[in-house]
Amino acid sequence: MKPTERAKTTHPSGRRIAGRAQEDRVDDPYQRQQKPRGPAVCPKCGAAFKDGRWQWISTPTDTGHEICPACRRIEDGYPAGVLTLTGPFAIQHQDEILRLARHQEELENREHPMNRIMGIRKDESMIEITTTDIHLPRRIAETVHRAFHGRLVYRYEAEPYSLQVSWSREEAGV
Ligand SMILES: [Zn+2]
Repeated sequence: MKPTERAKTTHPSGRRIAGRAQEDRVDDPYQRQQKPRGPAVCPKCGAAFKDGRWQWISTPTDTGHEICPACRRIEDGYPAGVLTLTGPFAIQHQDEILRLARHQEELENREHPMNRIMGIRKDESMIEITTTDIHLPRRIAETVHRAFHGRLVYRYEAEPYSLQVSWSREEAGV
């Protein structure tokens, strides 16, 4: 990563953002609120809350039900991450880009069940991918950037907790 890009990932307060060391559940209001007091399973997606975090594990049948933060965000239509991909290249290569995005989601979600793609919207000038977390948009954008170069800009907001990532490439071609 070039220094200019690294600078953009720093919050105006100087705090480094979106690092793995900084757990989502500390900052994400959806992770903070309604944290289950004991083991629970989400009736919508089947993720289980155990040992203080949501995991893909099987649970005993008598485990209590609690809708997980990712499913609540999806219900509310309130993404934490928004990745926009613009420019002729993105439109021309949308199938490849979306394949990369889905693959990154799969890898991310295996370890972090609360990190998911919420929606994908396309029009003639852009692709917009919304996510339930702030790590996945960064991960997808960095993969697209590694594969196709272009320009990446991050904007993190602590209030409301969100990350906007824009990727663009003007020139078409391969
Ligand atoms: Zn769920």
